[in-house]
Amino acid sequence: MSTVIVIGGGAAGMMAAIAAADSGNRVVLYEQNEKLGKKLFITGKGRCNITNESDVETLLRNVTQNPKFLYSAFYSFDSYYMMDFLEREGLALKVERGGRVFPASDKSSDVIKTLQSALKRRGVEVRLHAKALKVLTQGSRCCGVLLEQNGRAEKKTADAVVVATGGISYPSTGAGGDGYRFARETGHSVTETSPSLVPFSVREAYIKELQGLSLRNVRFTVQDGEKTLYSEQGEILFTHFGVSGPLVLTASTVLSGKEKKSFPAWIDLKPALSRQQLDGRILRDFSEYRNSFFKNSLEKLLPAKMIPVIVGLSQIPPDKRVNEVTRQEREGLVSLIKEFPFTVEGLRGYDEAIITRGGVSVKDINPATMESKKVRGLYFAGEVLDLDAKTGGFNLQIAWSTGHLAGISIS
Ligand SMILES: Cc1cc2nc3c(=O)[nH]c(=O)nc-3n(C[C@H](O)[C@H](O)[C@H](O)COP(=O)(O)OP(=O)(O)OC[C@H]3O[C@@H](n4cnc5c(N)ncnc54)[C@H](O)[C@@H]3O)c2cc1C
Repeated sequence: MSTVIVIGGGAAGMMAAIAAADSGNRVVLYEQNEKLGKKLFITGKGRCNITNESDVETLLRNVTQNPKFLYSAFYSFDSYYMMDFLEREGLALKVERGGRVFPASDKSSDVIKTLQSALKRRGVEVRLHAKALKVLTQGSRCCGVLLEQNGRAEKKTADAVVVATGGISYPSTGAGGDGYRFARETGHSVTETSPSLVPFSVREAYIKELQGLSLRNVRFTVQDGEKTLYSEQGEILFTHFGVSGPLVLTASTVLSGKEKKSFPAWIDLKPALSRQQLDGRILRDFSEYRNSFFKNSLEKLLPAKMIPVIVGLSQIPPDKRVNEVTRQEREGLVSLIKEFPFTVEGLRGYDEAIITRGGVSVKDINPATMESKKVRGLYFAGEVLDLDAKTGGFNLQIAWSTGHLAGISIS
């Protein structure tokens, strides 16, 4: 029976420990926090979007960084295996729009409880407040970890060690980047990290006036010179610093890691209407409000919070009667609504990033086992690796699949 140490009690670490125990190993899981799954607890706004019910090809298509590396991990443990595993462990699930899988209770804490009892049932020894300080090696073999527990440093020997320490986003959950250091110290390369799935800061002051407004079914476009970096339809949210919401988070996966930080962007507020159709719609509204001031004529067309901003940018005097608005002025208004402009001034930081882009280079890891190619008996799993995906449960599936593959590969 081999002794396995897993460092990190997040999604990847818990799954690695469960799989390693199922493979007949004696497993000890070290977590520096006072409890397991601190980040899992806040996932999916407290509901935990566990995975995405989809085939492996779809999983791979939604991975933004190094999808090919995940081929074996996904094929050996895909979202259906994960759902089946949780249901067998007693957790009821439900599938929502876009294949997003949640616990039926809508409580991320139930996912954590299920994993905790799965660990217990398999006899995994869980040590909390236990911080790994160093991965120990002998020649090119991993032989344990140096651990800090109750203010004391101790050497713990093991036949295999799984590093599942996560990235550096949302540091309050314990994401401190220790895994990157362990990787470097043992001769692995670590690619440059940057925040991803993260909101944008915006230059223009008028965006802040829209704070709290959420727009559905709009098209959000980010441009770099002639090149369209991102253009998708969905939901956007205005915040005190700029923009957020599903469209922006997905767009951030395209901008993350780029040296250039500032990009022109715009929102098509009426993507279902052509310019001509929108003009016709405005004309109809104008004839209805024919004796009103321009500033009072847009309430059917735009959300209330948006109106003063659009009026201010339109160059049409707010107190002009709508029947005096010229064709040219109306054309300008159409352009403004089809291309409501602003400037992205960079991504927000790790504190607000759902994931960390970059990490332990997958070139140094065997994709069929998650074992290091440089140090025998040393495995990496989860966000600590240079892997990330779009929203929808795909990032957690990376953690479950890589954790599981590491666990079953140790014997
Ligand atoms: C706000 C938010 C919402 C999210 N929502 C979703 C979602 O709904 N669906 C989805 O798929 N993804 C979501 N994600 C992403 C997802 O949470 C991560 O991809 C996933 O948690 C990564 O799992 P992990 O086990 O690799 O790392 P983590 O979950 O970060 O776990 C790493 C663990 O290692 C511990 N650790 C670190 N260093 C040491 C050390 N030296 N010694 C001991 N322990 C250590 C940490 O304390 C931590 O508990 C969300 C992320 C955030 C921030």
